[in-house]
Amino acid sequence: MTDYKNLLFDKSFVDGEWVAEFEEKLDVKNPADGSSIGSIYNSGTGLLQNAIEAAHRAFVPWREKTAKERQAVLEKWFSLIIENKEAIATIMTLECGKPLTESRGEVDYGASFIQWFAEEAKRVYGDVIPGFSADRRVVVIRQPIGVVGALTPWNFPLAMITRKVAPALAVGCPVVIRPSEETPFTALALAKLAQEAGFPAGVFNLIVSDEPAAIGEFLCESELVSKISFTGSTRVGQLLSAQSASTLKTLSLELGGNAPFLVFDDADIDAAVKGAIASKFRNAGQTCVCVNRFLVQDSVYDEFTRKFTEAVSQLKVGNGLDEGVQIGPLINKKAIDKTKSFVEDAKEKGGKIILGGEPIDDYFFQPTVISEATTDMKFAKEEIFGPIAPIFRFHTDEEGVQMANDTIFGLASYIYTGSVTRSWKISEALEYGMVGINEGIISTEVAPFGGVKYSGKGREGSKYGIDDYTELKYLCFGGVK
Ligand code: NAD
Repeated sequence: MTDYKNLLFDKSFVDGEWVAEFEEKLDVKNPADGSSIGSIYNSGTGLLQNAIEAAHRAFVPWREKTAKERQAVLEKWFSLIIENKEAIATIMTLECGKPLTESRGEVDYGASFIQWFAEEAKRVYGDVIPGFSADRRVVVIRQPIGVVGALTPWNFPLAMITRKVAPALAVGCPVVIRPSEETPFTALALAKLAQEAGFPAGVFNLIVSDEPAAIGEFLCESELVSKISFTGSTRVGQLLSAQSASTLKTLSLELGGNAPFLVFDDADIDAAVKGAIASKFRNAGQTCVCVNRFLVQDSVYDEFTRKFTEAVSQLKVGNGLDEGVQIGPLINKKAIDKTKSFVEDAKEKGGKIILGGEPIDDYFFQPTVISEATTDMKFAKEEIFGPIAPIFRFHTDEEGVQMANDTIFGLASYIYTGSVTRSWKISEALEYGMVGINEGIISTEVAPFGGVKYSGKGREGSKYGIDDYTELKYLCFGGVK
């Protein structure tokens, strides 16, 4: 088994070389105790320009390979990631804090996109359209869009990269990636394995930089970049959208959420509790599809709250590398303070803290349950991104749906009910890109992941996820007499 230290790299990867723009190094900290994991050479827009030019040079030769030839490289990359699962998972837990079992799961999940799109690229079909005159023929083909810029967050240091670059690379687009400054080591390990897999120079580029705003703006304004794919906050998504206006760049945006979890009076409450725990506390509540609001029908409110609180009280908090830990640290002190502010706000407005409610230290936060939550509380509108579970009460189906939709966000939602009719009617009424019905974990490479409203645009994964990296071209054949 590879020692994880053999997969730690300290430079950016551009045009097939390990390089850096500056001599200054960035320290990467372990969120579980603030200790240093290592440091990486910083780079900026100078190296970014080199990466964009290298990607642009690599575009036509990469596009001209057959889908099967590209598939072979992607499949190799997939196999190398799986072979090094334990080492990558360890690096991931060290830099983002999630429990090792979750990190292993993310390696599998992230790698699955590579395998899926390697296969899917062979099915990028066009169309033959019945002609509009006797001597003409109409054909439509799909072609890769061009150089893709990928900007990713820390909460899924591997999967947020592969969800974007796997479809891009598979259809023939070179990529320039900028991972979060909090989790660059996982990204660099991926780059190392991409190098070993044999992507031609310039096809796979990854830059470590502590200047996200400058990198984002530069990518948006570059005429050599055809598309930006971003995962992160709605605020930054809006900024990138505005910055891309001058080049009319295509954008895919996977942004924030405010997921409702509706429990109806005919639900299997034990199943709902199980789904609730899985969805709420993954990565200590720091995922865009984590439940933000539990909406529970009046007649089952007390039973759900009691059973859920009992289950939450059993969760083991600690360093993600330790055996049996289910909840790791939050990403930084700012996240601890923000989580605390949600609790304070709820307390002031009459919420009952029935479990937890306090930081354990500067790194960990107690899993928290708040009952009698009301719509004037901050978490009714804002994304929590921490281990707090507020429970709201509703009476009728209409009221439940109205409360669920009363947000600017529209990413994931969940409903628990024993009724087929309710499953359909409520799913159709929810203004969300995804609905889990009697299921708390819904992410998979085979289904389209994405949101509506302020949660973004575009879909990742599935047969639909490849469309965002291709353009349609219409060919009109004349003189066919
Ligand atoms: P963030 O927007 O602050 O940062 C995301 C990434 O963008 C980071 O790498 C950051 O360095 C970079 N960034 C910051 N400012 C930038 C700029 N001006 N230009 C370009 N890049 C910039 O978000 P965060 O707090 O780190 O991540 C959590 C957010 O991501 C949450 O809102 C969460 O819901 C969202 N998220 C969404 C999905 C999804 O699929 N919809 C998945 C994971 C996370």
